[in-house]
Amino acid sequence: MSDLETALKQSFGYESFRPGQKEIISAVLAQQDVLAVMPTGGGKSLCYQLPALLKPGLAVVVSPLIALMQDQVESLQNNGIAATFLNSSLTAQEARSRRLSILQGHISLLYLAPEKLVSSSCKNFLHSIQDKYGLSLFAIDEAHCISEWGHDFRPEYRQLKTLRSHFPRVPMIALTATATERVRDDIIHQLTLKQPKIQITSFNRPNLYYEVQPKKRQHYNQLFKFIRHQNGSGIVYCLSRRRVEEVAFRLRKDGISALPYHAGMSDGNRSDYQTRFLRDDVQVIVATIAFGMGIDKPDIRFVVHYDLPRNLENYYQEAGRAGRDNEPAQCLLLFGSKDIRTIEYLIAQKEDEKSQRLARQQLRKMIDYAEGTDCRRTIQLNYFGEHFSGNCGNCDNCLTPKPIEDWTIEAQKFLSCVARCRERFGMTHIISILRGSKNKKIEQNGHHLLSTYGIGKEQSFDAWRNLARSLLHQGLMTETTDGYRILKLNQRSWEILRQKRTVYIAVPKSSSQKTGSNKDLDLDSQQLLIRLRKKRKRLADAQHLAPYMIFADTTLKQMAKAKPTSLNLLADLSGVTEHKLNEYGEAFISEIQAFLHETRLPIPVPSQTKMKTLRLAQQGYSIEEIAATRGVKPETIANHVSELIEMNQPLKLEQFVPKYEQTIIWETITVVGDQSLKTIREALGEAYSYQQIKLVRAWWRRKQNQLSST
Ligand code: ADP
Ligand code: ZN
Repeated sequence: MSDLETALKQSFGYESFRPGQKEIISAVLAQQDVLAVMPTGGGKSLCYQLPALLKPGLAVVVSPLIALMQDQVESLQNNGIAATFLNSSLTAQEARSRRLSILQGHISLLYLAPEKLVSSSCKNFLHSIQDKYGLSLFAIDEAHCISEWGHDFRPEYRQLKTLRSHFPRVPMIALTATATERVRDDIIHQLTLKQPKIQITSFNRPNLYYEVQPKKRQHYNQLFKFIRHQNGSGIVYCLSRRRVEEVAFRLRKDGISALPYHAGMSDGNRSDYQTRFLRDDVQVIVATIAFGMGIDKPDIRFVVHYDLPRNLENYYQEAGRAGRDNEPAQCLLLFGSKDIRTIEYLIAQKEDEKSQRLARQQLRKMIDYAEGTDCRRTIQLNYFGEHFSGNCGNCDNCLTPKPIEDWTIEAQKFLSCVARCRERFGMTHIISILRGSKNKKIEQNGHHLLSTYGIGKEQSFDAWRNLARSLLHQGLMTETTDGYRILKLNQRSWEILRQKRTVYIAVPKSSSQKTGSNKDLDLDSQQLLIRLRKKRKRLADAQHLAPYMIFADTTLKQMAKAKPTSLNLLADLSGVTEHKLNEYGEAFISEIQAFLHETRLPIPVPSQTKMKTLRLAQQGYSIEEIAATRGVKPETIANHVSELIEMNQPLKLEQFVPKYEQTIIWETITVVGDQSLKTIREALGEAYSYQQIKLVRAWWRRKQNQLSST
């Protein structure tokens, strides 16, 4: 664990930084100015609180939200951090005693209202602190308030301009959740930030594929099947130590190199296993959440949650350990209702009622995610206050789209029921009213008399819940975070009620399985990649290195794709430094040459008519075009092409079947065999044509022949 992570854990109890935090904190510690743009709820406060603790002197935080200062200061004090605030809510007496305690050097964080800060008496005060102890930083929260171009201009912020001239050497960090480019420039200009580090953080991780599968009864098999198809490193998270041991054991028995990791093991064992994972000596770590905080392995290709995580925050962080090298990686969550009861049991063990309530709300949100029909990214990012429009193209809900329906009228019914209940009730109650339920709570509140009572009988409870979840996920309605999940209307809800906005939701169907690694490589390159990985592993072992230190996955993939056969060509790829070229170049080149040699083996000679087809195909014509040119049926040409492929003729399959489909068909053939086109088609479904299947099957057979002849 790095020093920063240790400090984070010590002072705030968190295991890892959220996106952007570490970069911002490091910059501030290096005396650099920073402009930080992060979604609401993203953890901006920590970006100045942690440096304030680590640097000597007093940190000054400017915040316009006087009402929140007390809360923030109290929660810091709860963590044993010396913080205080000065604003107009204090009596003269209170303010004086606080200033005294600052002058005595007892305080490391001071919250100030902007109008206070710019007064000359306050400036003098800060100057004397600076002389005595130093000022560690200025943090300007809600920095967009300084700009007239923003949505929340506050004139008192304008005077913060003078800070820089008074305290030229104190680093300044400006934080905001919303900033257009114009507002951003304005903030930098108004505060005279000096060559600031500009950190704009979205929580989106586009290279991660998110999927939720209903947990089957044979869930171990489900896991095993998934892992068997993976060829990179991965983590499997489980809820309990016992489960960790059991799963690791079974995977090993089934031929997958896997090790357990949990807090009950000795330090020595844990660090040994961690090193083996880092060096790719073991493919899979099965762990409780204790695993992953300290490790920085960039090439983790999959993370499976075998059990339901307790909340979305954990899920986001744990799944986020995959694919830090920005290469595609998969995040699979197995969701079973039994897990809900396990977690509920754990929650019931908590001491006070409030933390139980909050934990339950977190769990409900996790379930909403798992059962949700919206784009998984939209749901996750919504959790962090970030708006994402959906259709990411890289989650199960987007790739196996459920029918999208216009539910505007139902949404209006739902939202108006929320309004009529004066925004004081939760989802279940609202649905019960709409469905005309006879339960007591409804009568006690007189809600059976509402005009919305019973107007939604035509939809099932689940259908209404699906709508309500989607409204929340899409940010079309909100809920309180106090553990009660009271539904609240926002500006968008009102737009729906006023017929100014339509509502589309995805209607559930059972989800299907997808795998998604290396889809951007053709089959040849995928096979070469496997060889290159093995080569890399051998080289790494010989030097006691982790494989990614030789070449990153990104570089290896480029190699598999470009198939360079000389050092010059290899040098062009990104990630190939001169040193690495000298050190490893030859080894990889000879591997690639061997591969090319083995895969180029034309033996039988095709007939005249097939040769004609071959020549046209090599000029890039499609099957339909060749058929038209030669005046024969496309099926005939498709047969030619597949025979040519099987005969090892130089043809590229991508010319006829897109790579993505190739891989899916290939995987299906691997499972159901190559004997019957009909069986393959049935396994694949309507979306794939016989022609495509036939061509991929030819390619598959070609590869089988090559394999058996080497
Ligand atoms: P913002 O000001 O960006 O809206 P906050 O600073 O209030 O967000 O943080 C939002 C929540 O996230 C707080 O409850 C905070 O304690 C929590 N948080 C911040 N950083 C982390 C972290 N690294 N790990 C877990 N929780 C965090
Ligand atoms: Zn999506």
